Amino acid sequence: MQDGVARSDPATIARMTDRYAVIGNPVAHSKSPQIHTEFARQTGHDIAYTKIHAPLDGFKAEVAKFRDAGGKGLNITVPFKLEAWNSVNQLDSLALDAEAVKTIAFRGGEMVGFNTDGIGLVRDIKDNLQHSIKGQRILLMGAGGAAHGVLKPLLLEQPEHVVIVNRTLEKAQRLTAHFEAPRGLATRHISARSYDDFGSEQFDLVINATSASLDGSMPALPDHIFAGDALAYDMVYGKTTPFMQFAQAHGARATDGLGMLVEQAAESFFIWRGVRPQTAPVIALLRAAL
Ligand code: NDP
Repeated sequence: MQDGVARSDPATIARMTDRYAVIGNPVAHSKSPQIHTEFARQTGHDIAYTKIHAPLDGFKAEVAKFRDAGGKGLNITVPFKLEAWNSVNQLDSLALDAEAVKTIAFRGGEMVGFNTDGIGLVRDIKDNLQHSIKGQRILLMGAGGAAHGVLKPLLLEQPEHVVIVNRTLEKAQRLTAHFEAPRGLATRHISARSYDDFGSEQFDLVINATSASLDGSMPALPDHIFAGDALAYDMVYGKTTPFMQFAQAHGARATDGLGMLVEQAAESFFIWRGVRPQTAPVIALLRAAL
């Protein structure tokens, strides 16, 4: 079943236009069709991008149907990122470590999985927000799928260290252990923590990768957590969250995750089409429509 899209004869589209889609449950809220349609307009590529609402037990069947109808690629959203990771024939190195697939490319008979979240976050922080990551003290809040996806790309930027704090401490510890040697990343750079275990330390970059903002809450943080010139990044987008308000009230610069959303989409577009679209106009377009 597809929702929110005009239906056309699939055979006709397959002949004329390369087809892509975002698959999830729910998926009606997704901004991916708007973003990719804008990228295609900007680069002159002829693509059709739709939404696929898959039944919770029907992910693989919907993916096979889309591929068999000539589909070229998929973006994966909740709750299918792990199932996608287990379904593809090949994984790129970031997806392998993230244990979640955000983007699938159908290449010949192969189904190749990528994780584009971390690249999207790093590009938004470095390029759009002009905040260096190298040498920074980073606090990563949350140890779910999004935190898994962004940790390796953050570590590759050579921060001073990354502290992972999570409501369920064991998940933060498992995530930390996952990146221990022999993965080539020094363990002294990562540690796990619970929210009641902060001393007087401060962070230059605090990333909220929890879903708390979705229900209008935030995990409790000490008042002194932000260093001077700190950036507070909430992955949730489209509203000023309690975390952003807290950060602003304590002297930090705060942003939502809209830039990450568009940057990770741009990486998908590059994987599929070999062209990097401009992201700034698309971020501005979406921001204006919020
Ligand atoms: P998951 O469900 O996998 O993980 C949720 C995390 O949030 C867990 O670590 C959970 O802790 C924590 N959490 C939830 N509620 C609370 C709370 N009240 N207090 C403290 N911690 C809490 O979600 P994802 O990792 O996939 O996504 C996280 C967020 O990131 C979502 O809001 C999502 O929309 C956003 N996101 C944005 C993207 C973008 O492009 N801007 C891309 C990907 C995600 P515990 O382990 O204890 O349950």
